[in-house]
Amino acid sequence: MEEKKLEYFREMLKERFQELLAEAEKTVTGMTTGNENYPDPTDRASLESDRNFMLRIRDRERKLLSKISSALERIDAGEFGICEMCGDEIGEERLKARPVTTYCISCKKKQEAVEKARGL
Ligand SMILES: [Zn+2]
Repeated sequence: MEEKKLEYFREMLKERFQELLAEAEKTVTGMTTGNENYPDPTDRASLESDRNFMLRIRDRERKLLSKISSALERIDAGEFGICEMCGDEIGEERLKARPVTTYCISCKKKQEAVEKARGL
């Protein structure tokens, strides 16, 4: 993938990561109003590595945060946008809709069919 496009996805993922983190933080600290008490972005980044914090946030958010950070790792490793199952490139439109995905659309469909067959 072109460097320019990778940058686009990197920014997108980082933004999403910060948003999620802010949301999760709100849940954990019970803050519902105002931004004035928010820690600055540097503090937020340190929260990310705070294990207690990660354990206290909701499961869904935790999973998504970890998906996003592994997507960012794949960008750094030059593996972003490559299907884990077949090694083909994942379509750009699919990545835009779901940048954390690791399967191309046909592998995803196959996987879903398997899960369905197993009754999962
Ligand atoms: Zn595939």
